[in-house]
Amino acid sequence: MSFDPTSLIAPGVRGIAPYVPGKPIEELEREYGIKDSIKLASNENPFGPGPRARNAIAAAAAEIGLYPDGNGHALKQALAAKHGCSPGAITLGNGSNDVLVMLAEAFLTADTEAVYSQYAFAVYPLAVQATGATARTAQALPSDASMPLGHDLDAMRALVNERTRLVFIANPNNPTGTSLDAASLRKFLATVPTTTLVVVDEAYIEYTDASFPDASRWLGEFPHLVVTRTFSKAYGLAGLRVGYALSHPAIADALNRVRQPFNVNAIALAAARAALDDEAHVAKSVAATREGIAEIKRGFDRLGVRHFPTQGNFVLIDCARPALPIYEGMLRCGVIVRPVGNYGLPNHLRITIGTEGQNQRMLAALEQALSQR
Ligand SMILES: *Cc1c(COP(=O)(O)O)cnc(C)c1O
Repeated sequence: MSFDPTSLIAPGVRGIAPYVPGKPIEELEREYGIKDSIKLASNENPFGPGPRARNAIAAAAAEIGLYPDGNGHALKQALAAKHGCSPGAITLGNGSNDVLVMLAEAFLTADTEAVYSQYAFAVYPLAVQATGATARTAQALPSDASMPLGHDLDAMRALVNERTRLVFIANPNNPTGTSLDAASLRKFLATVPTTTLVVVDEAYIEYTDASFPDASRWLGEFPHLVVTRTFSKAYGLAGLRVGYALSHPAIADALNRVRQPFNVNAIALAAARAALDDEAHVAKSVAATREGIAEIKRGFDRLGVRHFPTQGNFVLIDCARPALPIYEGMLRCGVIVRPVGNYGLPNHLRITIGTEGQNQRMLAALEQALSQR
């Protein structure tokens, strides 16, 4: 009897290329037989969580014999106060990745479409393809544009039709670091029909400067706007997996139907709640990131490496030749960065801002790797 599991896979899932995460430190050390490696590959906060979140994690660990609060009441109350919205507008996720997938599950079917940009965050195609919906990718701005490789909202708008249920916009975007201004984003929201939900992914908003558009303020104006946020980046809680969506309550109600009953664990709920009160930790992390960006940009200039503008806690560089050998050269120095060939950028590397010492080590590893050809 022959068994062909591939033919059994749902058509949308069959074509999916699995997500490739940043290389874990333990894996590098096991494979290369080295120690004291650093990872600047997944845009994590090099300081981790602040003291309030750490204390909350320890306290919550004592209670994990019980299921978490499936409605996340305390965290939603705190988020509602922060954003000036009702708790009913909030959907908590096991990372914001989870809410992105819930959006796809709740709004996409095989006869609908979703739009995102070339070089946009890799989770959008994964979430869309799994539903069997048609993904439409808008060409990004060219490499010599004022916002190189950024989202082209006119090109994205041109792909929206009556079958389009979701548009994904990352602002700032990962892996490019590019961003969109308030006027262009608002114009896009105003011209996209309300039969299409526009998801603005603000995973890095804490790192942006004061003039940066905070789309969460526009939820009252645009019923088809969904804003996603995460505790994985500036809040330093990537390992716990917690993020959320802000939306019209009817959209939150739809997401709640596909949400797993206990999708956010008890430790994550407590840590995120405490992290919200630790503004000092976020401020310290953001300040260190800004200094780090200035520092590594000087280093890239010294090495003659092109770097792209960024509003995140990472910088994209163009190695002007295949980046994989450079990535591997850096691995041998114990420094993990992120190749982005899977995004169609085979000459580029995405580098997370670390501590001052980590940034210096990264620059030394890059210099070493560039000299080996
Ligand atoms: C890191 C990141 C996320 C957040 O992922 P989590 O699932 O919340 O850890 C979302 N969007 C973008 C663009 C990201 O880079």
